[in-house]
Amino acid sequence: MAKQDYYEVLGVTKSASAAEIKKAYRKMAIKYHPDKNPDDKEAEEKFKLCAEAYEVLSDDNKKARYDQFGHAAFEGGQGGFGGGGMNMDDIFSQFGDIFGGAFGGGFGGFGGGGQRQARVKGSNLRIRVKLTLADIANGVEKKVKVRRKVQADGVTYKTCTTCNGSGQQMRVTNTILGRMQTATTCSTCHGAGQIIDKKPSGADAQGMTVKEETVSINIPEGVVEGVQLKVGGKGNEAPGKNSIPGDLLVVIEEVPHETLKREGSNIHYDLYVSFSEAVLGASKEVDTVTGKVKIKIDPGTQSGKILRLKGKGLPSIERYGSGDFLIHINVWTPQELTKDQRKFFESMMKDENFSPNPQKSDKSFFDKVKDMFS
Ligand SMILES: [Zn+2]
Repeated sequence: MAKQDYYEVLGVTKSASAAEIKKAYRKMAIKYHPDKNPDDKEAEEKFKLCAEAYEVLSDDNKKARYDQFGHAAFEGGQGGFGGGGMNMDDIFSQFGDIFGGAFGGGFGGFGGGGQRQARVKGSNLRIRVKLTLADIANGVEKKVKVRRKVQADGVTYKTCTTCNGSGQQMRVTNTILGRMQTATTCSTCHGAGQIIDKKPSGADAQGMTVKEETVSINIPEGVVEGVQLKVGGKGNEAPGKNSIPGDLLVVIEEVPHETLKREGSNIHYDLYVSFSEAVLGASKEVDTVTGKVKIKIDPGTQSGKILRLKGKGLPSIERYGSGDFLIHINVWTPQELTKDQRKFFESMMKDENFSPNPQKSDKSFFDKVKDMFS
């Protein structure tokens, strides 16, 4: 059976304004709301379809795609409705927007015909992890110790009798939309939907205890100072049978390297060569963070020359290849001279070969820098 047109579902025309679409959806949502139609599969399907239609038609981007391609615009997963439509949690969370804050998730009373169960999420934990440039270049697995709040061994919970596990107490109020139920957090279980049944000694009032745990974190290559990675489920646990643990948030801190300087995915390195090496040429080994590389200093190399090792910098976190390793050549001028050396340099004072004679091809420092980023 062909899927019903979204405009038809909400009973509006293609030219309907955003306000008209919202109004139409509000009407449908109330009509087919599961609280009003208990155990009515057809109403539930209608309810979901209306939510799906609204999700698309209330979003300029999705609406434009739908207008152009119809349902095909959202097939194959990307659009989010490829398979079984929206889930109930999505729909209820959308209600805050439709009915105003008081109704956000406040309908409750739904979940496969039974009572909607509260799902409390534990709080997130945040740690900082220090990384060297080599860690960042190669990616690294870090093991960190975290002190997590967890449910104590042997603790058992039972459904809260005040709210029947929903975590919310319903109150009927009169609103512009008629008599509506609003919800407040249950005063007995504070929203968890569960209360302590048995708890071992040492656990706190909610049956929780603090446990030190080693968590291993896979840090991808190319991360940047301040980036926050998430390890799902390794934050604090929450009390109750249905609760889900919070997340462990890992904030990246970059330890400055002694000799290498990072700039985005490029790495800069100051290489000092002796006066003789600059004049006669030399072969050098440079330790990039991804391995040692042999480089050649050409005879007659000027101070300030930049050698670029393509792709030897840091991988980009977006995986668009790697940056470069840039070697800045600095000629080390001797600070002290022996008598003979002094004589030699004095004799070169008037030598043509020793007087500066920059060619057009010897770019100035600023031109080199400009080239580097073009
Ligand atoms: Zn309760």
